Amino acid sequence: MALLPITKGVDHEVLRTKSKLVKSIDKKIKKLVADMIETMFDAEGIGIAAPQVGVNLRIYIARLNVDTPHEVVVPMINPELSLYGDITEDEEGCLSLPKKFGIVPRHFEATITFTDLKNNRITLNLSGLNARIMQHEMDHLNAMLIADRFVGEATPTRRSSRGSKK
Ligand SMILES: [Zn+2]
Repeated sequence: MALLPITKGVDHEVLRTKSKLVKSIDKKIKKLVADMIETMFDAEGIGIAAPQVGVNLRIYIARLNVDTPHEVVVPMINPELSLYGDITEDEEGCLSLPKKFGIVPRHFEATITFTDLKNNRITLNLSGLNARIMQHEMDHLNAMLIADRFVGEATPTRRSSRGSKK
């Protein structure tokens, strides 16, 4: 595995390009996923999308149930997202926008369908932070950034709470 450089900046071309579907899960994709996982943990992120390592493919990694005994690291390929429930506002940060934290409204519930590394199509119903991560990472695949969605500034106290970079 290898650490990959993280693409940064609100105007970065790769971050502002819509990502393409993955055609087949070959060795190259598996290597990319392994490297993305290593890069995410090195940067202390709770999610990372392929454009954040310079690749415009529809892949992201999410740490579900982060910081609980049930935490799982889930690579999601060609994800499709449906959103439900109330809109809730919470602080978000992004590995690609260092030091930019703000309040982002998101749906509280989401259904995500994705392909895993074994080529199974899987559907999960998620809520809270898990659903928030899906929306943040899906935005990356669609060339959106949190800065486009900020409705307020994060307070210093909230900023110092557990990192929520994705
Ligand atoms: Zn991000």
